[in-house]
Amino acid sequence: MIQDNEASGPLGPPLEAPIVRRLAVVGIGLIGSSIIHACRARRIAGHVVAIDRDPAVVGRCRALGLGDEQTTDIAGIAGCDLVVLCIPVGAFAEVAAAMAPHLKPGAIVSDVGSVKGSIIAQISPHLPAGVHLVPAHPVAGTEYSGPDAGFATLFQRRWCILTPPEGTDAAATGLVDRFWHAMGADVEVMTAEHHDRVLAITSHVPHLIAYNIVGTAADLETVTESEVIKFSAGGFRDFTRIAASDPTMWRDIFLHNREAVLEMLGRLNEDVAILARAIRWGDGETLFRLFTRTRAIRRGIIDQGQDAAEPDFGRRHAEQPGGGKAEA
Ligand code: NAP
Repeated sequence: MIQDNEASGPLGPPLEAPIVRRLAVVGIGLIGSSIIHACRARRIAGHVVAIDRDPAVVGRCRALGLGDEQTTDIAGIAGCDLVVLCIPVGAFAEVAAAMAPHLKPGAIVSDVGSVKGSIIAQISPHLPAGVHLVPAHPVAGTEYSGPDAGFATLFQRRWCILTPPEGTDAAATGLVDRFWHAMGADVEVMTAEHHDRVLAITSHVPHLIAYNIVGTAADLETVTESEVIKFSAGGFRDFTRIAASDPTMWRDIFLHNREAVLEMLGRLNEDVAILARAIRWGDGETLFRLFTRTRAIRRGIIDQGQDAAEPDFGRRHAEQPGGGKAEA
């Protein structure tokens, strides 16, 4: 078994044999380019086809050496054993329809989308018999987009959640599991429905709060814009980082995980009302009890290696293009 080894790079040495013979990555943004970097670093795939609809992005992929082949043509997936769709959640039906005639029998289709139920519903009707669907969601990211934003270690020590629909071929799920492990991720399998509820509260609602609080501050008439920027270190700055995330991606996430997000927002609104009441009535005990509980959750996240304990969230501004982590 291959172990991670500092001498051969933080991801570990190249594999003795590739996990995937021929890989296609469709959508070369932050996640797509990071997958290609990681695959190149560890030779996870024998041959990589990078596909993006934008000729300028395809040109950039060539310049960066992303993939063995680069094309704007979705037919580039022909002959590929694994096709990973790295596009916004709202684009899957259209891309699945265009891709379907070119899929080889026995191919595995996967993705990295932040909502799983909707993506399965969008892709499934287009897949020919004998093609396997193994959806995946790496819970890793930054607020940056595009082919220049990716880096090989993005998925290292991050969770990747697989949501194979009932009856999915176990060998196909196993291959996608090994693929993500090789990129440094820890893999967990759950249903798409459960995934969407968990991510609604851990990722989607926090992003909505960030977008909202930054928008509210910008609208406040009694606080000038320069004061918002000047005094941003008091917590607000971290919200601005999250609220800088890609608008297309986040619009699609909210439109496609509507039920779960609305359910969690309902719960949140109730709890905010309780906090407002505690503040109004000087009920310090309620506030202290909650803040003690939440502090323990933060400690749990650090103990499990999902964030750093250093001040400023241990951000590595200089070392990596992403700096902090604003995963979706
Ligand atoms: P990104 O950097 O903005 O890249 C998105 C890619 O999708 C671009 O290559 C874009 O093509 C392509 N695209 C957009 N609309 C398309 C359409 N209608 N048809 C075909 N291609 C289209 O985004 P990303 O951060 O890599 O996110 C990609 C996926 O990963 C999303 O589903 C997102 O939910 C998921 N995800 C993101 C994060 C994160 O933190 N960023 C984390 C985990 C999962 P162009 O070159 O034409 O723009």
